[in-house]
Amino acid sequence: MDPAVGDLTGDVLIEDGTIVAIGPDLKVADGSADIVDASRHIVIPGFVDSHRHLFQALMRGLAADWSLFQYFTTMFGVLGPHLSPEHMSLGTALGAYDALDSGVTAVFDYSHNQSTPDHTDEAVHALRGSGIRAMFGYGGSMAEQLEILSPPFKSTTPSNEAEIRRVRSQYFSAGSGLLTMGLAVRGPDSSTMDVVRADFKLARELGLRINTHIGMGALDLNGRPNVTRLHKEGLLGDDLIFGHCNLLTDEEFRMMADAGVSASVTPEDEAAMGHGWPPIAELLKAGIRPNIGIDTCMAVGGDPFTAMRFALAVPRGLANQRSLADSVNPWTLDLSARDVLEFATIEGARALGLERAIGSLTLGKQADIIMIRTDHISMSPVLDPVASIVHHASRQTVDTVFVGGEAVKRDGELVGVNVAELSRRASAAAAELLDAAGVLPGWAPPPPGGH
Ligand SMILES: [Zn+2]
Repeated sequence: MDPAVGDLTGDVLIEDGTIVAIGPDLKVADGSADIVDASRHIVIPGFVDSHRHLFQALMRGLAADWSLFQYFTTMFGVLGPHLSPEHMSLGTALGAYDALDSGVTAVFDYSHNQSTPDHTDEAVHALRGSGIRAMFGYGGSMAEQLEILSPPFKSTTPSNEAEIRRVRSQYFSAGSGLLTMGLAVRGPDSSTMDVVRADFKLARELGLRINTHIGMGALDLNGRPNVTRLHKEGLLGDDLIFGHCNLLTDEEFRMMADAGVSASVTPEDEAAMGHGWPPIAELLKAGIRPNIGIDTCMAVGGDPFTAMRFALAVPRGLANQRSLADSVNPWTLDLSARDVLEFATIEGARALGLERAIGSLTLGKQADIIMIRTDHISMSPVLDPVASIVHHASRQTVDTVFVGGEAVKRDGELVGVNVAELSRRASAAAAELLDAAGVLPGWAPPPPGGH
């Protein structure tokens, strides 16, 4: 993923968690290095997921057949009030290990269930314990999110500034290692401009990147254009990550491009749930290289390979359909496998402001590295390694994962994680949660305002 290094057969030398050499037949003095045999593997940078609600792994699959609107009404109104600090701890850990297992070494954890300081403390501790590199996106309380479901359909409650300052100084002061902090704000689609201005001001004072859902189905369909509103107020900037963006106009994409705003596309759930089509072609046309996220394991799986395939197939399919509608057979295809691999690695790093630290195998960068087996039945023969990664690899082929040079997965197994025990605790907690929320077999999401 570093054009200056290129694709090569060779070695990677890691020292103190940093990549210090890449090349064929690197020599080290006898006994001075641990040798990891990566023959019959493809070695690439870890994936970077710019938009994932990690805690929702605890409710895995629950929203498989829910629309986006059904998800909102249920998440905020039905499940939200019952999500405890313990659920945040378990769900965040589960989500982080799920991500690591599939080769995601860094994530923006869009954690919008900070209903009490205990919820926050548990989420941060779980992230820290998992060994994943993460930007913890402090996302306010469920009660704040719930306000979007009734008039005026925008949250009016100011963010908890004192709590944000506490979390920032308690956990994320200088030298916080793998963890950094961001703000996952409600933004102009979900909160009033007074709230937006205060959130942006606070984030910028504290040096926190701002991530927000914007320009998608189910939110503020009649109140747009909100990116234009931000632009007019001079609030756009390169510290912003906009999630989804499905319904934005070309003009708004240009405003984002001019200001250096990052765009996170979560192609699988967007295509299915009612966000709108993943706007990958439109972003590229405006000069924005998108990054990719999973969004929620309540609706889709947690592995980045599926996300890359959706990111490739959907824009291609839409372009092909336009061509066929004009009775022209497409001769070439839009996008390439390498494009979506970049979206899932270096572009994700850029969104997190970490492009100088991760996202490619580059001298001086952190050793966030994954090894993908090429001798797996799904992989052989490897004729084009990039095509193999995007189209044929899966979490089963992710053999080894390093974060900052530390192995978190070796020989196909998470290191130091009692998966059976975690699974047992998660199953019990999820059953108890659904029982408390009254989400039992045969239950259906309530219509808007009906709860
Ligand atoms: Zn989201």
